[in-house]
Amino acid sequence: MTTLQNFALGTWRAGTGTGTPLYDAVTGDVVATASSAGLDFKGMLEYARTVGGPRLRAMTFHERARMLKAVATALQARKDAFYEVSYRTGATRADSWIDIDGGFGTFFVYASKGRREFPNEPFYVDGPTEALSKGGTFVGRHVMVPLEGVGVHINAFNFPVWGMMEKLAPCLLAGVPAIVKPATATSFLTEAVFREMIATGLLPEGAVQLVCGSAGDLLDHLTCQDVVAFTGSADTGRKLKAHPAVVANAVRFNMEADSLNCSILGPDALPGTPEFDLFIKEVAKEMTAKAGQKCTAIRRTIVPEGTQEAVLAALKARLEKTVIGDPRRDDVRMGPLASRTQVRDVGAAVARIRQAAEFVYGDLATLDVVGADAEKGAFFPPLLLHCAEPLRTTEAHDVEAFGPVNTVMPYRSLDDAVLIARRGQGSLCGSLFTADPAVAKRVVFGIGPYHGRLLVLDRSSAKESTGHGSPMPHLVHGGPGRAGGGEEMGGKRGVLHYLQRVAVQGSPDVIAAVTNEWTTGARRLETGVHPFRRWFDEIQIGEALVTHRRTVTEADVVNFACLSGDFFYAHMDDIAARASLFERRVAHGYFVLSAAAGLFVDPAPGPVMLNYGLEGLRFTKPVYPGDTIQATVTCKQKVAKEVPADQPPQGVVHWDVEVRNQDGDLCATYTILTLVRRRPTGG
Ligand code: NAP
Repeated sequence: MTTLQNFALGTWRAGTGTGTPLYDAVTGDVVATASSAGLDFKGMLEYARTVGGPRLRAMTFHERARMLKAVATALQARKDAFYEVSYRTGATRADSWIDIDGGFGTFFVYASKGRREFPNEPFYVDGPTEALSKGGTFVGRHVMVPLEGVGVHINAFNFPVWGMMEKLAPCLLAGVPAIVKPATATSFLTEAVFREMIATGLLPEGAVQLVCGSAGDLLDHLTCQDVVAFTGSADTGRKLKAHPAVVANAVRFNMEADSLNCSILGPDALPGTPEFDLFIKEVAKEMTAKAGQKCTAIRRTIVPEGTQEAVLAALKARLEKTVIGDPRRDDVRMGPLASRTQVRDVGAAVARIRQAAEFVYGDLATLDVVGADAEKGAFFPPLLLHCAEPLRTTEAHDVEAFGPVNTVMPYRSLDDAVLIARRGQGSLCGSLFTADPAVAKRVVFGIGPYHGRLLVLDRSSAKESTGHGSPMPHLVHGGPGRAGGGEEMGGKRGVLHYLQRVAVQGSPDVIAAVTNEWTTGARRLETGVHPFRRWFDEIQIGEALVTHRRTVTEADVVNFACLSGDFFYAHMDDIAARASLFERRVAHGYFVLSAAAGLFVDPAPGPVMLNYGLEGLRFTKPVYPGDTIQATVTCKQKVAKEVPADQPPQGVVHWDVEVRNQDGDLCATYTILTLVRRRPTGG
């Protein structure tokens, strides 16, 4: 037995007192004790704000993203040791994969998104420049900066690793330090992973701290710059959300709570169809994975009236094959709950659900367990209930049994199915099994307002589907109402929770200086050297080239039509063109683009390696034979690129391009991206 330590103010320290005993879910033995008594919670917050915050904020998004990747890579190398500890929480190998590999995977996804979707700057620019004046001298833009407080992460017991990592990844990427407070019952696994995270030495001082045990008076000292991310029961969540310091300081509070998630069998997915088989497999999997202790697990199974017998028979057949016991054994498919307290809580919840539903499978009195003692471990049987009148009862929709428990309920029409699903009063996720896109559309819009995520599964997507119960770091995790009303992850969205959006108003020059991005109306500068002859490092934001002119001829139009094969009537059929909104033959838009490239490209070999792509193209005015066009190219933004050692150092330059006619009217506008070499060292 060990005494868990807290990581506070940069050092490992044990709490005072005897501590709370933490139990092995399989054997009932005490694994460790946890105590946070004696910690200076106010000091920990201050330490994070003054030591961790400034260090993280001094890094760019790309640097923080690389840090996440390095940490996850180092942790992955220690995975086997974590799996050993994880067994003691009751998790099978497959369960641990969701928790441990899922947690590391979240770091990897954020590491990749951080480099692809955020700038190599410590701040983020949200959306385009907004025109606020007729003359264009006064504009606005949203800039997002890291909050200068702490992410206080309070986690549930069921995912000791993923729970920590899915909150840490967006928080650290945003540049905000964190205090992690895992649920005490399984904190011995969180501590094991956290310890290795610190040992990597890859995180700046003060970036993360750990509390194993009670949160003490931590919340009393929150300020307007802090963020609380809570996962757990709705009761605790409501209590913490109403904490006086949270209310008084308008502390951002993200809540992930109970959820009575549903799965709907479509009216077309009758027995004998692939969708029916997929549905049975998924419901049984969701009941038994992590012994049903997943916030996203299917609790309510909604099936067309008349199919209940077939559904129940198929589910029973699967559940009968579920071997329960020591999660270390290869033949075991379901381990125990996390603690004997959970056994009591789930049993009490089932008793309440039984007021509205009858038992159809499972036995609370006798339980066959392999390789373990059913009396000592926190084992609980899979239970299937049937609620014949789901629209006339509340318990089956209201009571969350956080274990391998599921209630099957019939629907008479698709509208009924939608009403039943909505009775969950807000869920994290729901699923629908149908091969009929029209059914999918009705259900998605029918239950969408009550869900954070919806999975529609059919035979075509089943093989590659990530399943009902897996929150993906790319997508939002969270749900309205009972589910807490929060949102976590969701790719970039999760990072934005930790940033303050500031609407900055001013002249285009001021906005360009603040954002490091040239914007329309801001000063342009000409160096006398063609910008395509300059190294990445030499090019300045706002550096521009005004090209020579070119008169477009009918021969250009004919030649371009022949070259491209584009004989569209507006270019080639004089009669039809006169009847069209162009009123006469017009040059191809793509000719204008090509001709503009011909105007601004510098042909000799130089620092420009290639044209990377084109964004935001708009043809704003037709170009006719006889018109004279001219292009202006302006450096809008520069992004240094990370490249393998065998490639020359380089960066992407975003060039604003405007093509105007002889009257100065804008005919085409777009952004081109070029890959430009960095100045060779010493050059
Ligand atoms: P819980 O009892 O509400 O505890 C959640 C967390 O809150 C734990 O870390 C707990 O610490 C902490 N806590 C309790 N009282 C506190 C206080 N006064 N001040 C600060 N922290 C406090 O929930 P749980 O039993 O761990 O988790 C099960 C529930 O979580 C289920 O209802 C499940 O649906 C929900 N859940 C939701 C999601 C989701 O993403 N939506 C995910 C997983 C679980 P101690 O352990 O030290 O008490």
